Amino acid sequence: MSARPPRFPLALGRIGSAAAKTQPRAQAPRAGAMRADPAPTGLGLDSSAVRVRMVQRLRAEGVACEPVLAALAGIARHEFVEPGLAAQAYEDTALPIGWGQTISKPSVVARMLALLFDGRNVAGGGSLGRVLEIGTGCGYQAALLSRLAQQVISIERLRPLYERARQNLAPIRSHNLRLVYGDGRLGHAPNAPYDAIVCAAGGDDVPGAWLEQMAIGGRLIAPTRAESGAGQVLLVIDRHADGWSRQVHEAVRFVPLRSGTA
Ligand code: SAH
Repeated sequence: MSARPPRFPLALGRIGSAAAKTQPRAQAPRAGAMRADPAPTGLGLDSSAVRVRMVQRLRAEGVACEPVLAALAGIARHEFVEPGLAAQAYEDTALPIGWGQTISKPSVVARMLALLFDGRNVAGGGSLGRVLEIGTGCGYQAALLSRLAQQVISIERLRPLYERARQNLAPIRSHNLRLVYGDGRLGHAPNAPYDAIVCAAGGDDVPGAWLEQMAIGGRLIAPTRAESGAGQVLLVIDRHADGWSRQVHEAVRFVPLRSGTA
């Protein structure tokens, strides 16, 4: 990744430009629809300052989970997207990562990770324990998880994205993070049980393998088709000694969870 121009602070110097600010927030740009770089403003912001601002915005919007905010402040999101999109990396917007997939917007990532921290196995608000992520994508959320958990297994079904995530994550050298190429609908039995399972793609249902691979006291969060059939909702499932309970949270929009590998 270190060979991928442009490097900061150069690109982030552009972030305050009018062009970046008028980019619509609610909608992810289509892959391949990259706009021309806005003119540099000469503000000379470095990426950590811009990340601090992003975290301040999330805090103001109600994200109160300090470990999650600290992780968001510590991981350079711009290094996980194409250089042409780097100026938008700290806007609250989803961005294309190629192969028809998107990196979720920071507020949604923060929300999901914060919900995981409310799980019973998160001892004293400290670590998420052993985590399974389905949908590595570009590896951004996996990088955050590696700061928040003892051990992270992250699965991706698209070979080119799996390779991309490996490249993106190499400089971080997270010894507690393992990337797996495979169908995440099957979970990853060799490292089960998991204290937390988080899926970054929306399925029609929650695969049985995920429920079986949860630890007692573990928590799962997954965008799942709403019972009404219209759209997706964030589903939280907790495993107890005598079974599972579930909560339905807000409506969301994620790329689809698919079977098999490609
Ligand atoms: N957390 C990612 C978001 C990636 S988008 C990030 O930070 O970039 C969701 C990802 O889920 C896509 O890369 C998609 O290929 C992957 N995906 C969809 N179905 C899957 C499955 N069954 N197993 C593993 N990955 C899957």
